[in-house]
Amino acid sequence: MKVIESEFFKEALRFIGYGCQMGWHERNAGNISLRLNKEELESVRDDFVLTDNWVSLPEAVVGMANEFVFTTVSGSYFIDMQYNSSEKFCICEISNQGSAYRIVWGGKRPTSELCGHLMSLSAMKQKNAGRAVYHCHPANIVALSYIIPQNDKEISSALWESETEGAFVFPQGVGVTGFHVPGTLELAKATAEKIKYYPAVLWSFHGIFASGDSIASAFGLAHAIEKAAEIKLKVLSSGLPIVNTITKEQQEITAKTYGFKLNEF
Ligand SMILES: [Zn+2]
Repeated sequence: MKVIESEFFKEALRFIGYGCQMGWHERNAGNISLRLNKEELESVRDDFVLTDNWVSLPEAVVGMANEFVFTTVSGSYFIDMQYNSSEKFCICEISNQGSAYRIVWGGKRPTSELCGHLMSLSAMKQKNAGRAVYHCHPANIVALSYIIPQNDKEISSALWESETEGAFVFPQGVGVTGFHVPGTLELAKATAEKIKYYPAVLWSFHGIFASGDSIASAFGLAHAIEKAAEIKLKVLSSGLPIVNTITKEQQEITAKTYGFKLNEF
């Protein structure tokens, strides 16, 4: 089958479209990745073109050796992904040492955040916690970077107390990286370190990096976090005294009801 006929490709295109409707993808903002499973890989292998154009990674990601990663092409405008789609996505094969990649299908250059995706996909694989990442720029969660102290506990608590479903959609909380220059190894490492403990990471002043079993579930997590952030920001922006909240006890009961336990940090 051709890659563009595959379910994972169609799902990515669909959810990128939803992200654009949300206003999360100005200019070339955003990138996604999916570590292909065996079935997906075998279903599209005939569409691959193999070359010897291996590109070294700035640092080996041993845990991703021999994996195939479907991702977005650097500089692609998400609002325009449905046109010439096969030039705006690509599939990277990771070398047997995890130190290089080559494009086996699609556009010429993967996202500039490839290292962050590979390091995070590796950490997720190790703890059997999904194989997809959705990165976007939602305004409300980014705005909270300026208001809430930059630590995992403070951000997570602020989100849990803002929307009832937060306690069971992301009971582990949300990690925060602090400021890092986009596309750097420093950001990649900071993200991969946080994704070991949290399903999503706030890139301060930048965006959200959400993981999941599929592009759909990673998108859903980003959406839930952004909605909680929007409510928190509206409450804070109202200037009115806060006389009610979702208490810690209520958050814990909510999580427990659905079989989860809130992270205690
Ligand atoms: Zn970004």
